Amino acid sequence: MGMGKVNGHAIMISLPHQGHINPFIYLALKFASKGFTVTFVHLESVHHKLLSKLGPQADLFSQARHSGLDIRYATIGDGLPLEFDRDLHFEEHWGVIMRDFPSLVDEFVGELMRSDPDFDYFLMTDTFYPWPPAVARKYNLVNVSFWTQTALTFALPYHWHLLEQNGHFPCKDDMEEEIDYIPGVGQINTKDVMSYLKESGLASIVTKAMAAALDAVKSADLILHNTMLELEPETLSALNEHQPNYAVGPVNFSKSLHSHTVSNSLWSEADCTDWLQSKPPASVLYVSFGSFIHTTKQVIEELAHGLFLSGVDFVWVIRPGILSCGNTDVLPEGFGDMIEGKGLVVPWCNQMRVLSNPAVGGFLSHCGWNSTLESMWCGVSMICYPIAYDQTANRKLVIEKWKFGVNLCDGESLDRVEIAEKIKGFMSGASSDSLRQEASKLKVAMEKALEINGSSDRTFDQFVEDLKVKMD
Ligand code: UDP
Repeated sequence: MGMGKVNGHAIMISLPHQGHINPFIYLALKFASKGFTVTFVHLESVHHKLLSKLGPQADLFSQARHSGLDIRYATIGDGLPLEFDRDLHFEEHWGVIMRDFPSLVDEFVGELMRSDPDFDYFLMTDTFYPWPPAVARKYNLVNVSFWTQTALTFALPYHWHLLEQNGHFPCKDDMEEEIDYIPGVGQINTKDVMSYLKESGLASIVTKAMAAALDAVKSADLILHNTMLELEPETLSALNEHQPNYAVGPVNFSKSLHSHTVSNSLWSEADCTDWLQSKPPASVLYVSFGSFIHTTKQVIEELAHGLFLSGVDFVWVIRPGILSCGNTDVLPEGFGDMIEGKGLVVPWCNQMRVLSNPAVGGFLSHCGWNSTLESMWCGVSMICYPIAYDQTANRKLVIEKWKFGVNLCDGESLDRVEIAEKIKGFMSGASSDSLRQEASKLKVAMEKALEINGSSDRTFDQFVEDLKVKMD
């Protein structure tokens, strides 16, 4: 093309899970506010959930468009009927997404480019997808990959061959060895690596999908990360030896973007504000295991009794479908009466609103990456109960590197009395103040990184410059 003015148009496609959708939405807003056109693509199943929550008037970005941002909104099918329960049959859904979805994306991109040819299109897709290189090649598009998690959990599978060479792929489940040869990672114990690298995870389609995706990302032109330089400097700089990586996160929190509020929750949010208002500062424990993970009734029961025995006030999100068996009868009998006034159980909430309420003094979390970032952003310390995927690796960072959290316990054999003691200690024991101080420091560092000329802000501008050069 050569030195022409770039009329950039991002085609953005995220994985259809809340923890990916959230950063993608804010990245779209950030991008559009730099003058790019964005077509934000949701899977029809996601759009349908939003519609049933918000009604037929729902339009994800209408407010942003009113204030002059050029964000278009489109949907694509994933190859399964709408009524298919994607949460319960997650593996089957992923199978279809990996197999049938690529040709649907291909058609969509071709059609979009034909119908509106006056743009310089580029792809901005979730690193979890293995198909972007093929689509980028076919349509001659710059291929930007967005990794919504930590640089650590990118670096490990990025160097999959090193894990294999060293006998750490797959990691045996009971193995406890230090992995110390991944560039920029320092040390990580095999027990903390992602579940899809472990022997027990091999049966899952996720391992195959991640291997294909991390192979595919090696041909991406530019890679965005939802982390910030100050959190993982060594890992990011080692990754830059291979490809251009940009730590532009956390994208979710820009103050100016929040004026374009989009309703991105896939479930209706219960309002916890009135309940929290009646509680003293930093006295309430917020408990949530995110949008995606399943657990057992036994785990929920022990946690329930542990929370009750701790005597600590709590807000607990129990998402419909949290049990792996699909059962909706989740809590112990009579629990509602037991916790009257002390605990509030909701199916879903506006997590940021809850975490930023002064009454909240701690977060019992599965350590999903968005939840971890949100906890830091609100200066709230964490008590960690990771279950699978990247959550154990995130816990390691929270506890050992950033030091604003403690561990609750490992695995599924929980003990209610032990849980109660841990929770009490976490909320008001000797180390609770220092954990909160560390969380507050991270909050300040994050605000600085996102300010004009902060590290993430500068990196984002650099990314935009480099992208324009690639497209020219
Ligand atoms: N979330 C929410 N309300 C809830 C529970 C979770 O809005 O009641 C949001 C939370 O703020 C976060 C996302 O859902 O942005 C969960 O993402 P995370 O990466 O923490 O975990 P995942 O769901 O991917 O396991």
